[in-house]
Amino acid sequence: MTVRVRFAPSPTGYLHIGGARTAMYNYLYAKAMGGKYILRIEDTDTERSERKYEAAQIEDLKWLGINHDEGPDVGGEYGPYRQSERGHIYKAWAEKLIDTGHAYHCFCSEEELTAKKELATAEKRAPHYDGKCRNLTEEEVTSRLAAGEEAVIRFKAPRKAYVFTDHVRGRVVFPEGMVGDFVIMRANGIPVYNYAVVVDDASMKITHVIRAEEHLPNTLRQLMIYEAFGETPPEFAHGSLLIGEDRQKLSKRHGATSVNLYKEMNYIPAALLNYLCLLGWSHPEEKDVFDIHTLGTIFNLERFTKAAAIYDIKKLDFINGQHLRHLPLETILIEVGKIIPVEHPFHKMEHDWKLRTVTIFKDQINFFQDFTTHLDILFTTEVSDSAEYLEARNWETTPKIREYLESEINIAKVAGKKFVTADDYNIWSDHVKGELKIKGKQLFMGMRSVLTHQAHGPELKFIIPLTPIEILEKRIHL
Ligand code: GLU
Repeated sequence: MTVRVRFAPSPTGYLHIGGARTAMYNYLYAKAMGGKYILRIEDTDTERSERKYEAAQIEDLKWLGINHDEGPDVGGEYGPYRQSERGHIYKAWAEKLIDTGHAYHCFCSEEELTAKKELATAEKRAPHYDGKCRNLTEEEVTSRLAAGEEAVIRFKAPRKAYVFTDHVRGRVVFPEGMVGDFVIMRANGIPVYNYAVVVDDASMKITHVIRAEEHLPNTLRQLMIYEAFGETPPEFAHGSLLIGEDRQKLSKRHGATSVNLYKEMNYIPAALLNYLCLLGWSHPEEKDVFDIHTLGTIFNLERFTKAAAIYDIKKLDFINGQHLRHLPLETILIEVGKIIPVEHPFHKMEHDWKLRTVTIFKDQINFFQDFTTHLDILFTTEVSDSAEYLEARNWETTPKIREYLESEINIAKVAGKKFVTADDYNIWSDHVKGELKIKGKQLFMGMRSVLTHQAHGPELKFIIPLTPIEILEKRIHL
């Protein structure tokens, strides 16, 4: 059996991170099993569906590197892959259900149905359809349709319990009587979600449905329809719900929820996927940081977690930093180069200096844009007004350090050096310790205050060799 899975978004908005997670799980499962991953656009909600959202979702999936084998933009042998283009299929399959006695035309008006529902609720009965049109004769149906009367197609819900085994939830039982006869095709010929999904999944030979927990209740109606068609249902895996720290369903209130916003904020797609993968699945070696594209057969349905997953942006940021550090230096350089303003002196520096700077700072940043703040450490001539800095500056030992460093920087400048080296820095520090007899805090805070005008920052032996000598000179004279 070839595994065939699908991601079936509705193009009613931008790709949600929950959707991206579902798409990724399906994609990973197809990869692990040597199967196919299909993108199907569920655009039967004609009021809310828009082509621009379909295009945007496909673009975001591409950005994430979740590429489908079949879909509306790439084709495939089970198309069309947009529900709006499959009307003839839903109609033909609905006719099969009518012919086999599993569905029927229903002429009841909205008003009548609403009134009956209200009455049932008032009388504390389940508001199920009362079956008025269930047993109309074929002649009556034909003549009412011929007379132009509007009709929906309603499915005869079997009166029995349904049981299935979900890869995540285990044995799921739907007791008898949970649903009454339900509509599968509206009067305007548009199929209802639960029906269209079954027709599509069956006709596209989908073997596994991996989706979010909120779809679990839909499985009951879907199982009924599979049975009516005599089709074996796919295997199901309902992943965990995504929730915010307040344990409510993840929504815009919790911050950015659409993938394009993460793209705008310069998140690394591999990091976003890594984090999303952990929200509902766990690595067999308990790894937190990995590239999902290298999971291979490690990815399986058995390691899905049942409990709702709390979306924690701080963890995502941490993972982003981990991915950033492991990128090739040249890649980091290209990315930071795109973010640093064109007028910044960074762009005029030699390639080797840029690489060394990236090497020093990459371990201290989670985002490419944080690099700019660190660069300031090398170029600023601002003076800190912190109490700690002022204290260090006022020690009686500090002017001695300043006097010595002034002459050393001057010598280097006259010798034509554009930068001092790490060795130069070590010699300075040895001199201050050995000759000037300045030690401990007075030594390192003193040197820092003179060379950077700050009380804190990265290690001097790393940043001083990267600071242009004219900046050091300016600082020493301030
Ligand atoms: N179109 C549905 C959604 O966007 C997908 C349902 C399914 O995966 O069966 O939630």
